[in-house]
Amino acid sequence: FSPWTDPASVPFIRFENVTKRFGDFTAVDNLTLDIYEREFFSLLGPSGCGKTTLMRMLAGFEEPTEGRILLQGKDISGVPPYKRPTNMMFQSYALFPHMTVEKNIAFGLEQDKLPKSEIDARVQEMLKLVKLEPFAKRKPSQLSGGQRQRVALARSLAKRPKVLLLDEPLGALDRKLREETQFELMDIQQNLGLTFLIVTHDQEEAMTVSDRIAVMDKGIIMQVATPTEIYEAPNSRYVADFIGDINILEGKLVSVERRGEGDFVTVACDGGFTVNVEQHSCQATPGAQVAFAIRPEKVHISTEKPAEGAANALEGEVWDIGYLGDFSVFIVKLADGSTFRAAQANVSRLVDRPITVDDKVWLTWPADAGLVLTR
Ligand code: ATP
Repeated sequence: FSPWTDPASVPFIRFENVTKRFGDFTAVDNLTLDIYEREFFSLLGPSGCGKTTLMRMLAGFEEPTEGRILLQGKDISGVPPYKRPTNMMFQSYALFPHMTVEKNIAFGLEQDKLPKSEIDARVQEMLKLVKLEPFAKRKPSQLSGGQRQRVALARSLAKRPKVLLLDEPLGALDRKLREETQFELMDIQQNLGLTFLIVTHDQEEAMTVSDRIAVMDKGIIMQVATPTEIYEAPNSRYVADFIGDINILEGKLVSVERRGEGDFVTVACDGGFTVNVEQHSCQATPGAQVAFAIRPEKVHISTEKPAEGAANALEGEVWDIGYLGDFSVFIVKLADGSTFRAAQANVSRLVDRPITVDDKVWLTWPADAGLVLTR
């Protein structure tokens, strides 16, 4: 499923040069974005970056100051929220406490004056979808947080929107329930074949559920890509740093050499050592200020000295170790005083030569594990 790679596919939703100002503050800045039918799309970014404003403009709660929003090719400016094929799912505390689960789900349909038989049928369908049939007669206070969240989802899906908008939908749930609910959401989205647009500041959540992610900063989009691309090939220091853990070292580009399919790049890091990177393409020219970046789990840590003259080998001393169960993160002090993180999977309980604090270690990695970031 990747309609965005096909130049012939028509976007379902298009934000076209959309700007939103509140007084003299620009919340969304000349932003263009295409979302495709059946996509599970995330808007990801820190608080205040404009993601909710963008979603609210699509829902019709706000109008763009400039630019337009197209739905299936049609400009939806001025169309009131209730006439748009979008529906917003709010957090579960927006449920009516005095109404049963089925009444909560039926509420919007009754407002729309649908025939009773139709309402009953849809409520049953929704109860089944979110696996809450046995709880139909309960009030929200008699449900767990996760069940309440599913009622909220059922209520927003009962109106059969083409696009479901979810604003931090799982924010109120604890971690385990959150993860379970993420998979349920993905399941439901796939079964119904709907387009889901989710706003989140939780990068793990965005990585888990999304077909594609837009990473936002201060009203603009920094990168739109699949979770894998965002993680493996971030286009900037900002995106690299926002998603997951990464070592970022400033430096100067020494040379770029075309080798086969990719570029072989040499960077002189400010710490006084040189690294080599093989990547698809490098846009910078020698002398440019760039950053060398590498994810900790791509760095190999060992107490054994690599062969003389090996590229991408740094000597250091273990300063601290974080044990995370599945992984251990080693914080290593380099000769110039800076720190570098290496992560190692704890695959065996029987580590015969564990690395401990103050050990002298070597960090090594293959050239294609690192990245050169030019912005
Ligand atoms: P959060 O995760 O905190 O909700 P966000 O990325 O969703 O953040 P928005 O809610 O879109 O951010 O807000 C973007 C900026 O626009 C913020 O600085 C906010 O203060 C401002 N803003 C949003 N709505 C209004 C408004 N109605 N009037 C004035 N400023 C607003």
